[in-house]
This record gives sequence, structure tokens and C-alpha cells, in this order.
Amino acid sequence: MAYAYETHDYDVVVVGAGGSGLRATLGMAEQGLRTACVTKVFPTRSHTVAAQGGIAASLGNMGPDSWQWHMYDTVKGSDWLGDVDAMEYLAREAPKAVYELEHYGVPFSRTEDGRIYQRPFGGHTTDFGEGPPVQRTCAAADRTGHAILHTLYGQSLKHNAEFFIEYFAIDLIMSEDGQCQGVVAWKLDDGTIHVFNAKMTVLATGGYGRAYFSATSAHTCTGDGGGMVARAGLPLQDMEFVQFHPTGIYGSGCLITEGARGEGGYLTNSEGERFMERYAPTYKDLASRDVVSRCMTIEIREGRGVGPNKDHIHLNLNHLPKETLDLRLPGISESARIFAGVDLQKEPIPVLPTVHYNMGGIPTNYWGEVLNPRPGNPDAISPGLMAVGEAGCASVHGANRLGSNSLIDLVVFGRAAAIRAGRMVDPATPNPVLNKAGIDKALDRFDRLRHADGTMPTAQLRLEMQRTMQADAAVFRTDRTLAEGVAKMAALAARMDDIKVSDRSLIWNSDLMETLELANLMPNALATIVAAEARKESRGAHAQEDYPARDDVNWRVHSLAWVDGNKVTLGHRPVHLDPLTRAEDGGIDLKKIAPKARVY
Ligand SMILES: Cc1cc2nc3c(=O)[nH]c(=O)nc-3n(C[C@H](O)[C@H](O)[C@H](O)COP(=O)(O)OP(=O)(O)OC[C@H]3O[C@@H](n4cnc5c(N)ncnc54)[C@H](O)[C@@H]3O)c2cc1C
Repeated sequence: MAYAYETHDYDVVVVGAGGSGLRATLGMAEQGLRTACVTKVFPTRSHTVAAQGGIAASLGNMGPDSWQWHMYDTVKGSDWLGDVDAMEYLAREAPKAVYELEHYGVPFSRTEDGRIYQRPFGGHTTDFGEGPPVQRTCAAADRTGHAILHTLYGQSLKHNAEFFIEYFAIDLIMSEDGQCQGVVAWKLDDGTIHVFNAKMTVLATGGYGRAYFSATSAHTCTGDGGGMVARAGLPLQDMEFVQFHPTGIYGSGCLITEGARGEGGYLTNSEGERFMERYAPTYKDLASRDVVSRCMTIEIREGRGVGPNKDHIHLNLNHLPKETLDLRLPGISESARIFAGVDLQKEPIPVLPTVHYNMGGIPTNYWGEVLNPRPGNPDAISPGLMAVGEAGCASVHGANRLGSNSLIDLVVFGRAAAIRAGRMVDPATPNPVLNKAGIDKALDRFDRLRHADGTMPTAQLRLEMQRTMQADAAVFRTDRTLAEGVAKMAALAARMDDIKVSDRSLIWNSDLMETLELANLMPNALATIVAAEARKESRGAHAQEDYPARDDVNWRVHSLAWVDGNKVTLGHRPVHLDPLTRAEDGGIDLKKIAPKARVY
């Protein structure tokens, strides 16, 4: 069936209105670029709104801190897989990006003397990991993402960015020679089709937590950007690294921020023991997330879990003063009551490691430009295309992200993408001539799914995928679980051809939208488990029990995965080892960030 469509011309189209999409949109619009922001949910309903704990920047408001210490912690947190240039850029630009947020109007919590309040978070330390934990995480109570999102949306409107709300981006439009020319989108409330033609397209579509059964992420976190990129023939990077947050509420998966441990909360097992003291004597409950999640899993496995089935752990906050809970953690007091039926002041919260964040994603440089690695040029750029936020992989989180380093990633790289686009995009030049064949291809796929008449309902296939990922690409992995998982996932991905969509309409068709989302989750999930099976070492969030040690000789490399249907082709990209600033010019001493054992 042929679909009529309306064409919109812009300098830049940003897909996504979470923290990264809005920061990019605002930065583009501020410079006078004609900017469209296309989003499937209302901007302030993006998953960023749920971010609680805060945003990392070495402001030093609560004690000594420096960007070099922040950079060191990020390198170590990444288990030496992050790109050093990008990690320097993140740590160095973080204070600027936070002060910008303050000036835009983000209502940060304050210290007695009126400065931005900062709390401790896991893996953030002083003196290159030699000193005590640092208070680096800037917070607006426990609703930091909410505060940032509302402020950035207001500022974007002020600068005349144009929003296309409840438009679902279906696919990228690529020219014959690989230039991105924009996106094709479906307007959910009236069923019309829209083509956004732009000189620069920015994917800010968030993570793919919903590839798993139990995740802290919103149901909208379906990796749509990764799906679009895979269909455009571009690779995904480091997908095997999936972060489990130590404290999802048992049962619902709803998050209790790491800020709870930052404010003094601690974990106990069935014997009432503060077991983290045994595993991480220095930083205890504030060791980095992958470490804490593994320790909890070991406690449960060895029979020291709490509850009738001994299958979870307790998070204790009842010793904290009521004022601290009311002032610093009001949101989680409410979450604990609603989702666990617990009064924080009296009882511990039942918690379990829960899928929380995707370190992997669309490979980019530290300007947000998407990479299309090829032999001899691992950093080749895919023209006209950028990716920022959780959808992208710059890579600053490497094999494991530190808490509060995502919100700062959103604004630092959203801002960097805008700075770069400001230099590259000339409003005076005409837009690219649209590749009609590219548009037809996107609409053919859309039409096929709309009329899909197989035997497998979307919800059922999604559930099977989520259960497989949860069981076989878990906190701990082995050769056996991964091999089984790969076989199961390849079979499930093939069943996309047998999908059944019942609603054929174009208006508010949630059946079709969820099918499009499943078609995006699938390549993300498949790349995750195939790359995990291939990586024969343990690093960061990838804990492979058959290869318990990190192997820097063979595996300090980024994984690449090209996904085509249910086939995955793997490759590698070297990790960037050089910082941007030399030590003699004030940069970090390379000896400080040389790989070593990662203990907390
Ligand atoms: C519960 C929770 C708490 C967290 N707390 C913290 C914290 O305290 N500190 C921290 O640093 N990090 C935290 N994180 C991580 C961090 O919040 C996320 O990584 C980050 O918010 C992701 O932002 P984003 O801009 O990449 O995408 P999102 O905020 O997920 O937004 C994605 C956007 O893309 C749009 N979109 C997606 N697909 C399409 C499509 N096909 N068409 C059109 N639009 C589309 C959506 O409409 C949405 O606007 C938390 C995460 C969770 C889940």
C-alpha cells in the first residue's frame, strides 16, 4: 500500500526528548539552527524524568575534588574499556555543563551557604582512588532527572525549537552513498506519515532495558535508535555490557536510588550482616554497581538471602534521621511505601539487582558523531548522523557506568553534539535531495508489520525474549548459559517473520507501535547475547564465570555487532588510550590510569 506523507525541512532533526535529546535540541536552537525534536512520548515523560540520585561533576562544594579525580574514577569504573579522550571530555566539561543547568533554572538542592548540594555515590572517590569517598553527585532532592527535564523543555521552547510530540520515528533515511538525510515518522494520534529532511539527524532515543524481564527503565525504553541504526547497516558497540542496579525493589523492579546508600543506607543478608564490608573493605556499600550486584547475587546463592524464599536482600535506611529522609529522599520513601509496602523509618526495603542501564549502544566519537568503522579506519564517520545519551556509546562508561555519570553524559554530549553541529551545518545550504527508495523501504517495512498475519502475538514473543535475556545474559554468565541463550534468541528473532498484529488501524494503534518497538528490541537483545558469548573474559558488568579474570591483552577492545535479521556479524574497534590534554598541560598522568586490578 502506498502512503502519502508530508515533508518537513529542518537543519537538524533530533529524535528523542529525554535529557540528551533536549540538551541537544536546546543547543542547536540557541545557535539559530532550525531544529525539530521528534518524540514518541511527551518530552517530560521520557525516562530521564525517573532519574533520582543526581548528576556527577567535580564542583568541590562539599570538600576537595578535581576533574582529574573524576576522570580516574570513570576510567576505573569502566574497567579500562572506556575511550580515554571521551572520558576526559566528560569529566572536564562536567562542571561547566552543571553550572549551565543551574543558570537555565534547574532547582538543585542547596548547602547551608547556598551552593549546589552534592552527595556521595558509588565508585566516586578522592585522590585517584586512594582517599575517602567524595561528595560529587549534584542533586535536586531525589528527583534530579525530573528537575532537569522540565527546565530543558522550557528552555527549548523559549529558543523556538519545534516539537513533534507523539510522533514515532520508524526508520532513518539513508542516501545511496550512506549519508543520513532524516527520518520517517508516524503520527500516533491521526495516523499521518511525516518525513523529516535534515542536514543532521541526532538519535537520542534512550536505552533498551525492556529487552529484559525485570528492569528499572520505563516501558518506552525499547532501543529504537539501535534498531534503526542496525537496519541502516551500521554496527552497535559493547552491547554485552548491561548494568544491573543493586537496589531494584523486589517484585516490581522499581528503582531505589544509589543516593540512599550515599546518604548512609546499607545492605544486609539473612544473618543481619553488613556483608559488603567483607567484599569491599574500603568503600563497602559504595563500591561500584557491578561489584555490589555480584556480591548480592553470591549472598543469595550461598543461602543468605532474606524472605521466605531467601531470594533477595535488605536495604536499611531506618537508622537515618527522619529529616534526612524527608529532605533528601522523599521520592523513594513514597516508592518504598507504594511498591514494597514498607515504612522506611521502621523497616528495611526488600531489594534485588535489576537491569538498569545499557553501557553499549551506537558508537560515536566524543562529538556525538556516529562511527561506521571499516578496515583501516575504525573511527570513520557516518555522515549526517549523531547519537547521544543512553542510545549512544562514546564510550565513557566502558564495561560499567558509575552512578550519576549518565545524567552528566546526557548534558555534556548533548551539548557537544550541538557545538559540533553548529560548526558543520550551514543553514544557507539546501537540504539533501531525499532518497525516495529509502523512504519507500521504511514504509514497506511499516506496512508489512501493520498487516502482519502470522501466529505469534507481539506480547508473547516479547515475553519470551525478555525471559531468555533475564535467564541467559544475567549478572553471572557461563559458556553454557550464553550458548543456549544465543540459540534461543536467534530462534526468537526469526519468529519476527511470524508475528501477528490484530489491529490494522493507523490511529492510536498500540498493537502496531509495540510491534515496531519489539522489532527494535530484538536486534539490541541479539547483539547483547552474541557479543557476550564471544567475550572470553570478565570485565565490568560482564561476569563470565568460565573466564573470571580480565584479559587486557586480548580483550581491551570494543565489540562491534552488525545485526541483519537474526544474523549477527562481530568485529572490533581499538579502545582510545590517549587523553586530550597532556600531563604537562594539566591533564592526567598516564601512569595514574594504567590498567590494574579493580578493587574498592
Ligand atoms: C529509574 C532510573 C533512575 C536513574 N537515575 C539516574 C541518576 O540518578 N543519575 C544518573 O546519572 N542516571 C540515572 N539513570 C540513568 C539515566 O536516567 C538514563 O540513562 C537517561 O535518563 C537516558 O536519557 P536519554 O536522553 O538517553 O533517553 P530517555 O530519557 O530514555 O528518552 C528517550 C527519548 O527518546 C524518544 N524516543 C525513543 N524512541 C523513539 C522513536 N522511535 N520515535 C520518537 N521518539 C522516540 C522518547 O520519546 C524519549 O523522549 C536512571 C535511570 C533509571 C531508569
